[in-house]
Amino acid sequence: MSKVFVITGPSGVGKGTLIAELLRRVPGLELSVSATTREPREAEVDGRDYHFLGGEEFDRRARNGEFLEHATYSGNRYGTLRTEVERRLAEGRSVVLEIEVQGARQVRAAMPESVQVFVAPPDPAALRQRLECRGTDSGEAIDERLRTAELELAAQQEFEHVIVNDEIESAAARLEEIVRNE
Ligand code: 5GP
Repeated sequence: MSKVFVITGPSGVGKGTLIAELLRRVPGLELSVSATTREPREAEVDGRDYHFLGGEEFDRRARNGEFLEHATYSGNRYGTLRTEVERRLAEGRSVVLEIEVQGARQVRAAMPESVQVFVAPPDPAALRQRLECRGTDSGEAIDERLRTAELELAAQQEFEHVIVNDEIESAAARLEEIVRNE
């Protein structure tokens, strides 16, 4: 049966790496490509990493009800287009969403049958280290992401499944187990 898997957790926790590993381990799972008003980073490709939209276009689509969920995060907007999810479910394929906590809550309300996984860091310092190593955000943007992370970490008990990303192999194995059990 096709399912929606929501993977959430603070920026820098390694959701992207874990999901890439999950998709490698579980054939047939597909990642929804989100829309965002954030500027593309070097090496990001429109339509592959995100659908990069202008603010007005994002607003228009939001007004038209085209998003399953959408949220403002660090001054930019992010959202899951219904088409990304619905066409896959209609064809019997399962979908993975990589989204922040406000969006995860909206999906939980709209689709209580979705499976929700919160990825937590082994300790808060790991987030700063990861964001700094990634080198994609300015110092100010990192500080802003870390402030948001504190709120996100406080929300983890809302989630059905929590995975501590202490080590990629074991965290990926736990994520794979959750997905396969569903
Ligand atoms: P980044 O700018 O690092 O690509 O993403 C910032 C945050 O937005 C991350 O926590 C990421 O998971 C989240 N995000 C990405 N796509 C979506 C989306 O479609 N909806 C929501 N609510 N958050 C998203």
